[in-house]
Amino acid sequence: MMFRLVSLVALVVVALSACTAAQRTASPKLVNATARLNAELKAEDTPQVWRAHFIDVGQGLAVLHEMPCGAALFDTGGELDDRFDSNAALRAYLDAFFERRPDLGRTLDLLLLTHPHVDHTRGVETVLEGYRVRNLVDNGQTFGSGSEGQKFMQDWAETHADVHYRAVFLADIVSATGLSDPILDPLRCDGVDPTIAALWGQVGSDPGWPGIRFGKTPFQNSNNHSVVVRVGFGRASGLFTGDLEEPAIKDLLRRWAPTGLLDIDIYQVGHHGSINGTLPEMAAAMTPEVAVFSMGPPHWQMTWSAWKYGHPRREIVQMLAEVIVRRRKPIDVKVGVRSETFEPARIEAALYGTGWDGTVVVESRADGRQRVVTVGR
Ligand SMILES: [Zn+2]
Repeated sequence: MMFRLVSLVALVVVALSACTAAQRTASPKLVNATARLNAELKAEDTPQVWRAHFIDVGQGLAVLHEMPCGAALFDTGGELDDRFDSNAALRAYLDAFFERRPDLGRTLDLLLLTHPHVDHTRGVETVLEGYRVRNLVDNGQTFGSGSEGQKFMQDWAETHADVHYRAVFLADIVSATGLSDPILDPLRCDGVDPTIAALWGQVGSDPGWPGIRFGKTPFQNSNNHSVVVRVGFGRASGLFTGDLEEPAIKDLLRRWAPTGLLDIDIYQVGHHGSINGTLPEMAAAMTPEVAVFSMGPPHWQMTWSAWKYGHPRREIVQMLAEVIVRRRKPIDVKVGVRSETFEPARIEAALYGTGWDGTVVVESRADGRQRVVTVGR
């Protein structure tokens, strides 16, 4: 009887904490910081800019592309544990964003999921139920730690006749400028018209990539099927590779480096700065002006955290610092040596991280000039 009572108490405690997690709101500090950022952006508002908002979702990824005539969201984060609720953070950020941009009518023209892992799909429901979304894109897969979110999105498309959906398959990418259509690139802005094109997607058959990790071949790993997107705005451009890993990156380079399309200004550092998410030849092909790591802060010692993975890795930070000419206000941070092990580093190149800087906004003008605004932690 005693045992039953204890289990009942335990059950109630679990139920209560689950309830608290679901209803958690973003911290007042985060909300205030976001409000400050929006006030700053509003004060200097320039209509003809592209702003890539690397939203702080803890360990995970969510990039909001703010364009003169609309908005697109790549991935939805993020981390959920005792320290952080990425859904609350994402909702607070998008609410503040749409308050600053009432002209957009709480509408995302595109929601794109790079691949079905939960650090990228956790907020799908929050986004689809909280905002109007016109077009949905993913890599068509229905398995993986984030498959629930991806399938929720695919079902949403089936039951909402006014919402368009497409899956990106590598086999469909035949144009020399990448795959684009009105679903992937729904924005038609006057003046400078942004371009969104996919350079990679679900791979149809195993190319025979070597290396088995955790009992899986690289082909069985959704990371290598990430939808990779190039965004262009006038002379400015960016590359968003999701969590693409080494074998797929090599094929991506073989295909696209000769076209010059990988020579971009803004780089969403692949796989949260993991050792297998960027290669030296890729850094050389891109020579970005600015690179942003989307990861949690290294001092949050949790299971699915930047600390656990050792993100971002020292070697990747050094590799990018060598090709990025532009400088930032120097910052002293911790970089990963391996899982759970970090060492101090001073960052002077234009390398930013959501785990170091909070949300990072990279603003580009059509002439290719950039400026970076950070929320701070
Ligand atoms: Zn990830």
